[in-house]
Amino acid sequence: LPRGLHLGEDAPTSDTISVYVRVRPLSDRENAAGGAAARQCVQVAQERAVVLSDSTRSEPYVASYDRVFGPDAVQDEIYAAVGEQAVNNCLAGFNASIFVYGQTGAGKTFTITGDTSRQPDDGSLAQGCGLSLRVFQRLFDRITDLEGEGIRYTVKCSYVEVYNEELSDLLASGTSGGGGALSVREGDKRGVYVEGLTEHVAVNADDVLRLVQRGSANRHTAATRMNKCSSRSHSVFTAVVEAHQTQRDSGCTTVRFAMLNLIDLAGSERVSKSGATGEQLTEAKKINQSLTTLGRVVTALTEHQKHVPYRDSRLTFLLKDSLGGNSRTSIIACISPSEESAQETHGTLVFASGAK
Ligand code: ADP
Ligand code: MG
Repeated sequence: LPRGLHLGEDAPTSDTISVYVRVRPLSDRENAAGGAAARQCVQVAQERAVVLSDSTRSEPYVASYDRVFGPDAVQDEIYAAVGEQAVNNCLAGFNASIFVYGQTGAGKTFTITGDTSRQPDDGSLAQGCGLSLRVFQRLFDRITDLEGEGIRYTVKCSYVEVYNEELSDLLASGTSGGGGALSVREGDKRGVYVEGLTEHVAVNADDVLRLVQRGSANRHTAATRMNKCSSRSHSVFTAVVEAHQTQRDSGCTTVRFAMLNLIDLAGSERVSKSGATGEQLTEAKKINQSLTTLGRVVTALTEHQKHVPYRDSRLTFLLKDSLGGNSRTSIIACISPSEESAQETHGTLVFASGAK
């Protein structure tokens, strides 16, 4: 380890935004390619810091986060550290969000969705199951417990895609690739909402899974040099959890609600690297606009700045009520350990540091 690294000292103290890093293992392709691709340039120090030392750097880049997951971390560890608290926060009345950030191929979709099949013998979750199904399994388990105590819950889900700064409903019926462009509006009482967005009641984790699968099939993808199925859009899965509680003596019912958002961001790689031209170049610029604004919003929030630029991108405006105020946000920055990706990895680590 380089000298001067005091683990924990510069760890974030803000409890509203937590930042994690997940390093995936070298892929078969990286291993087979040999050379820089097969060289690991990322080390994890005491589950708190990342040390990036590639050959272009005279000194390693070191940054610490709330927690760093190495290549051996299994899905359940990520869930235990990030997912469970999101459910608890949501049930405590905070809008909770989990973002996955990083270049294409870094492990975002693996982390948030992963393997959603169930074991044929007992129906339990696959080891490779990502955050969303685990989170919703937990949510509905907790709801079952709480309903025993006389609170009634309703879970309403929606799924939108932000592509080229346009919003579409991934669950609107009779559409492929989402419905027409939708508008985000802000009302005095309702806060921010998407006009005409469909909502779908779910009563268990498998209902949610079906919605996720249906919506995911509608996501825009375009081939790039980096990954044939690279996702060029942001997807936001939202569950609005409503709690209805009836007072025994007065008979009055109070309704409270909180949102749980799972956000699979578009690849953060720079345009030049993916060899994009024409339509794909326009696309890449708009992807960067949303990601750059997300970074600025998060920085403004962590630094308690007066002006938070939510309106500078669709994504941040859509998530306004879930980013500021009464909310808890987790960002998981996903990175490859390969030296081939060192530059993008550096960009991702810097973004994640800015969010602390
Ligand atoms: P992204 O969504 O960021 O483009 P993916 O989640 O699709 O990236 O991951 C790219 C590939 O790497 C997939 O084949 C995925 O299964 C694999 N992968 C990603 N993270 C891990 C991990 N932690 N362990 C094992 N395989 C992983
Ligand atoms: Mg993906």
